[in-house]
Amino acid sequence: MDAAGPGLKVIAQYAVGVDNIDLEAARARGIRVTNTPGVLTEATADLAFALLLAAARRVAEGDRFVREGRWRCWLPSGFLGPEVHGATVLVVGFGRIGQAFARRARGFGMEILYTSRVPKPEAEAALGARRVALDEALPEADFVSLHVPLTPETERLFDEARLFRMKPGSVLVNTARGRVVDTEALVRALQEGPLFAAGLDVTDPEPLPQGHPLTRLENVVLTPHVGSAGRRTRERMARMVAENLLAGLAGKEPPNPVV
Ligand code: NAP
Repeated sequence: MDAAGPGLKVIAQYAVGVDNIDLEAARARGIRVTNTPGVLTEATADLAFALLLAAARRVAEGDRFVREGRWRCWLPSGFLGPEVHGATVLVVGFGRIGQAFARRARGFGMEILYTSRVPKPEAEAALGARRVALDEALPEADFVSLHVPLTPETERLFDEARLFRMKPGSVLVNTARGRVVDTEALVRALQEGPLFAAGLDVTDPEPLPQGHPLTRLENVVLTPHVGSAGRRTRERMARMVAENLLAGLAGKEPPNPVV
């Protein structure tokens, strides 16, 4: 904002999360901030479910195993993982993406638990979901999927204590923001703690440097922050950004204001 100078009128974020923007500084300077909510909900929920399936059923690990010529014969106990259908999933943050993820989980016959600061009775009824207290639900959930925004309240929400409270053999999926999870504690929880596996579209740091411990664990599935990377989704996001920019530059109320 300093570098742009007083001519800066609008910051149109090409994303829904705005944790990389100093909103207070923008407000103080009269700069509008906009984002792209809604259009990326389904694409991001799709990727979260893909990571859940891949981490549980060891898709990336199996792919490496086959490609590297290590597969010799079918084994009754080869590549076992937790069942997805009928399992219990805890959705942390029951907003747009959390609920879209829960719709997918329902299709897999999963029991759906969720946390949020405000109860969501309509979504509960529609999805058969049950609101729970995070610390009480962690030992019960076979899968935990994160869908909260990164805020001072959610930063390191999944610290060592919470990660080690998770059910033995459970799977963590993060398509929210890397800093919602304590990375060092996550590595320990995957190596020696309760976690069977993790599926991570977002990490802290991001990108992960080559050789980072997360990249060396077989039971981690990684994608490069591509939650919204559906073709049609990105086109819609681009259009929203342009509309917000044009409105902001013209001094009109932008369609998707954050500040
Ligand atoms: P949203 O509709 O605002 O949903 C976020 C939900 O989190 C809200 O319903 C809020 O409900 C809940 N929440 C906030 N603080 C909480 C807390 N401390 N504990 C429990 N719940 C809390 O946002 P969205 O569109 O679903 O997006 C969610 C996040 O996903 C974004 O902020 C972004 O960081 C991330 N994202 C990532 C990708 C990717 O490419 N990987 C793509 C899109 C979005 P209450 O107010 O009732 O608590």
